[in-house]
Amino acid sequence: MKTYPAEPFRIKMVEMPNILTKEERIEAIKTAGYNTFQLKSEDCYIDLLTDSGTNAMSDRQWAGLMMGDEAYAGSRNWAHLEATVKEYYGYKYVVPTHQGRGAENILSQIMCKPGCYVPGNMYFTTTRFHQEANGATFRDVIIDEAHDSEIDLPFKGNVDLKKMQALIDEVGAENIPYLCLAITVNLAGGQPVSMANMRETYALCQKHGIKVFYDCTRCVENAYFIKIREEGYADKTIKEIVLEMFSYSDGATMSGKKDGLVNIGGFLAMNDEDMYIKARELVVVYEGMPSYGGMTGRDMEAFAIGIKEACRFEYIQHRVEQCAYLGDKLEAAGVPIVRPVGGHGVFLDARKFLPHLTQEQLPAQTLAAHLYIESGVRSMERGMVSAGRDKITGENHKPKLETVRLTIPRRVYTYAHMDITADAIINLYKNRDSIRGLKFVYEPPMLRFFNARFDYC
Ligand SMILES: *Cc1c(COP(=O)(O)O)cnc(C)c1O
Repeated sequence: MKTYPAEPFRIKMVEMPNILTKEERIEAIKTAGYNTFQLKSEDCYIDLLTDSGTNAMSDRQWAGLMMGDEAYAGSRNWAHLEATVKEYYGYKYVVPTHQGRGAENILSQIMCKPGCYVPGNMYFTTTRFHQEANGATFRDVIIDEAHDSEIDLPFKGNVDLKKMQALIDEVGAENIPYLCLAITVNLAGGQPVSMANMRETYALCQKHGIKVFYDCTRCVENAYFIKIREEGYADKTIKEIVLEMFSYSDGATMSGKKDGLVNIGGFLAMNDEDMYIKARELVVVYEGMPSYGGMTGRDMEAFAIGIKEACRFEYIQHRVEQCAYLGDKLEAAGVPIVRPVGGHGVFLDARKFLPHLTQEQLPAQTLAAHLYIESGVRSMERGMVSAGRDKITGENHKPKLETVRLTIPRRVYTYAHMDITADAIINLYKNRDSIRGLKFVYEPPMLRFFNARFDYC
């Protein structure tokens, strides 16, 4: 039988959410218009809405906050963060930003020109937005299997080199400033990229003078998958694997809110000096001085410490295996989930879960609302509601996958919390026939999933 590593930490401070009765939860979700985004955080016993910025910091990170040097220039915490990024990620230059999208903005402004193409292994919302805002067209070059929820592959985030070559042949390498490689792929459910694929992708791009920038927000999770799944890496440390990964790139954008183990922060890193000089100019306009980039001194100190802690094997092993634990438990009970489980959470397949609902009856939205009622677990709809409407026809986008995302914050929950979550989902699954679908009663024109309100059909 598979075993799972126990929590590699001791708890010395706790947060006490409201533990509501079922009747109170029914009222709370009704007041929230059956939209989990509209729930109060303190009314969510187990909050799996996102793993972004929801990390629990260590005692050392909290101690680091007390050592914040809030000078406008030359803060010692910046020196610490800069040195840490250079040591752990291997880049020559680092520019701090307030979070990941700040780095994406600067990268896209420097690299993209109107009419250019930026390929990527699937897209991430803000990353793609900044590319397009600077005149680029995004092209998906991920392997086909990544779009299928049932194919079990060890490295489902890989670039399809044939697709990349086809794009080069079609538009010309001179019109492709860079390839954006996400490690792991968030939108594919945290699927990793293999070291071999990084190496080959970089070789192909170098041959054509195309740069490679990583979206390295979840790089430590990716490194763990390489260690346990790819031949030749079992005996390497996470730090060694992370360094090798970055050696196949020209730079990276990072959101510290994920694998930086902090609540806010980010950076843009690169090896090219000219690019660094441009980025250092832009950061002043959009983020702050190049010695803080929108972060406080204390934030930078916690971030530097977080980068080091994230590379400890026992941390990342627990992090990824805890996600697997929840997925394995659900799968053993026959609950339909997206396979394989990735690095940061579990996705329920809502159409298979609620087969008696049509897609118009919003199975993922319905399931997320009922999971809250059942257990106080907050999850996120990733289906037709999130997909929005076609800008031209006004029709609903109908994504093939209707999922409910259970994203696990780092170091926050124990296996007992995962048990409660799994039991609630399994119980709902047994009683799925009694669940009625939802419909919109208020639909905002843009990004409708945040503020939409629903009621039973
Ligand atoms: C969160 C995230 C981002 C954006 O980072 P922010 O810090 O939220 O701005 C970019 N890419 C990926 C893969 C992410 O998960």
